[in-house]
Amino acid sequence: MGVDIKTLQNWLSSYDYESITIGVVASHSSLQILHGARQEGFRTLGIAVGENRRKYYSAFPGADPDEWLMLDNYDEMLDYADWFRERNVIIIPHGSLVEYLGSSNFKNLEVPTFGNRGILHWESSRERQRKWLAMGGCSMPKVIDDPHDIDGPVIVKYAGAKGGEGYFIARDYRDFKRNVNIEEEFTIQEYVLGCRYYLHFFFDPIAEDGYQVEGIGKNSGKKLGRLELMSMDRRDESNVDEFYKLGSLRDLREMSLEPSFVVTGNQPVVIRESLLPRAFEMAEGTVAASFELEENSRGMIGSFCLETIVTDKLEFRVFEISARIVAGSNPFVGGSPYSDINEPFMSTGRRISRSIKKAISNNCLDSILS
Ligand code: AMP
Repeated sequence: MGVDIKTLQNWLSSYDYESITIGVVASHSSLQILHGARQEGFRTLGIAVGENRRKYYSAFPGADPDEWLMLDNYDEMLDYADWFRERNVIIIPHGSLVEYLGSSNFKNLEVPTFGNRGILHWESSRERQRKWLAMGGCSMPKVIDDPHDIDGPVIVKYAGAKGGEGYFIARDYRDFKRNVNIEEEFTIQEYVLGCRYYLHFFFDPIAEDGYQVEGIGKNSGKKLGRLELMSMDRRDESNVDEFYKLGSLRDLREMSLEPSFVVTGNQPVVIRESLLPRAFEMAEGTVAASFELEENSRGMIGSFCLETIVTDKLEFRVFEISARIVAGSNPFVGGSPYSDINEPFMSTGRRISRSIKKAISNNCLDSILS
């Protein structure tokens, strides 16, 4: 059941803070994380399965790790826990690590890891996410419990779907029945029409300045830490993004084509400035709620992303939260229109290393790792 704070402190007691190594699985946002770690002066470690994963790094000397750990499969990482700790490694988790290891293996990986691994439990189910986001004051797409009640466009999402794979749109029950795989667990959500914005935030529980998150519940009246907006992206999704070029949905169905939502890339975006106060309010609520999810919750630490749609009424609907660095931050290796205002060239990857550096100098590394 994960790592308790005493165990973490015990591991850290044998760490040499002068030679911390930032370790990351070579995928997802690893170029950015390794590049950022190097900018902040850390030694770096790449973890990979298969030579082709390693080879492409030689094309990016600015991120090429100082050392590699080559494995036959990612589960072997669990057996290398002592090896990692002997090298003073801090693992930076990303979506691929959690996917390759599985969330329970990841939780039990006996190596200090950036962020709060406990929050993954809340991120890993749509129902728990909704509870969390609702507590944080975010509006979400309606959920339709009975498929017979579908009376307008809905999106059907399978529980284990990766990157939008297998999702489909239905307009009525007939549509739903025609496409659904009843064997799988699914959720039916109102299809929200509007523009998508993926908001990348960073919560620094150590900082006492800037936009401070006010606690709720047992933390009422407390200032919990600083909220920063790092960047924003919009995902490219194949094939829905290009679907319209072939005609109307009806034309496409005659050709037996259905839209799909497989993420293939990311584009940088900004939103109307007048939407920023609400964006911050939602993110603040989400961080404040993260401390109330369970007894002794350590809350959100570091990077997280609110995945939103803004309607033509200029209202946000949050359809998902990722409680870690997202690949949508990759366009911003050199900074973003938001982070540049505070400090040029500050990627989310670099921000993570900066926060580790600051925690080392404040002697409170255990407050940002798990
Ligand atoms: P998700 O797996 O929840 O991140 O969703 C994958 C993609 O499906 C999103 O990037 C959107 O393009 C689309 N999507 C998800 N939920 C909704 C919704 N409620 N309304 C409209 N589009 C959605």
